[in-house]
Parts: sequence; C-alpha cells; structure tokens
Amino acid sequence: MRSGILLQRCPACEKTWAFPRERCPDCGGAPESFEASGRATLFSATVVTRAPDETFRALAPYRIALADLEEGPRIMAHLSAEAPIGAPLTGRVEEIAGRPIPLFKPA
Ligand SMILES: [Zn+2]
Repeated sequence: MRSGILLQRCPACEKTWAFPRERCPDCGGAPESFEASGRATLFSATVVTRAPDETFRALAPYRIALADLEEGPRIMAHLSAEAPIGAPLTGRVEEIAGRPIPLFKPA
C-alpha cells in the first residue's frame, strides 16, 4: 500500500526529514525525495474540539497525533481512533476536508 507521505533524505549524510527543503539542514547537500512506508509509532495525541476553520469545524471533535515514522521524522497527522502512546500505527495521505492530510490508524 502506498502511503503518499513524502520525505526527503540527504545522500551525503543520511539525515531524513519531513518538510521539503532545497538543501540538507545539516550539511547543505542536495536532498532526494522518497515515499515513507506509512508505519509509525504514536508519540502523542489529542482531541480537537475547537477547529481552526469552518471546514474542520464540521469534523470536530477529531483526533490529532504526532507520529514517529519508522524512517525517523515526527509528523503531525489525523488519528482515526484512540490508541495508547507508543502504539504501532499505519497511515497514508487521504483527503480530509478537501485537503491531503496523513491519516493514521492503530496497526
Ligand atoms: Zn546532509
């Protein structure tokens, strides 16, 4: 299953990160992009009851998570169900409120 979660890594120093950059933040090397596996561990989660805009207000309450991807980076994502901290997750980018957002589920 494709995750659609795009990461970048530096071939020179092997640092991996989530937000697109033109240069490696550690050594300045030229990064390459790749797709994450979608496997992650739950670092933190919360329930959003006061959504940031009208579109998300229709979804509230909904869960937000910080997920540690197996490739290293920690990303913010939506979470489909309650899960304990440290739980294994699987996720992929889905359309939520008309936007491409990573959605994770307990594995
Ligand atoms: Zn580097």
